[in-house]
Amino acid sequence: MAEETIFSKIIRKEIPADIVYQDDLVTAFRDINPRAPSHMLIIPNKLIPTVNDIEAEDEATMGRMFTVARKLAEEEGIAENGYRLIMNCNNHGGQEVYHIHMHLLGGRPLGPMTVG
Ligand code: AMP
Repeated sequence: MAEETIFSKIIRKEIPADIVYQDDLVTAFRDINPRAPSHMLIIPNKLIPTVNDIEAEDEATMGRMFTVARKLAEEEGIAENGYRLIMNCNNHGGQEVYHIHMHLLGGRPLGPMTVG
């Protein structure tokens, strides 16, 4: 059984977060340490520690993460100019919180993708 992270508490609203979207499958909130004018995290309500732990039964949830990212980008007014979606996996990927999350970043030109 995977250990819960702070993100489970955010989903259950046990600690404060700037939640911008929530439904039966996913929750989205603003990153506490934004790296761009718009920086949100889209996470599954189910605790999946890393991308390596995604199962076939999670496919609907993974799809929802993308449709919510698209919707939030539109609402944020960054869809047309563009944005970046990032998921980090494990140590070499720079993952810090072991509850998978999609970073949605935009609001300025992000430049070429850098890798560390
Ligand atoms: P990663 O390095 O991909 O695991 O990213 C974890 C992200 O979670 C970082 O961008 C953090 O700033 C963000 N984060 C950590 N704790 C919180 C929190 N309580 N509320 C919002 N974002 C958080």
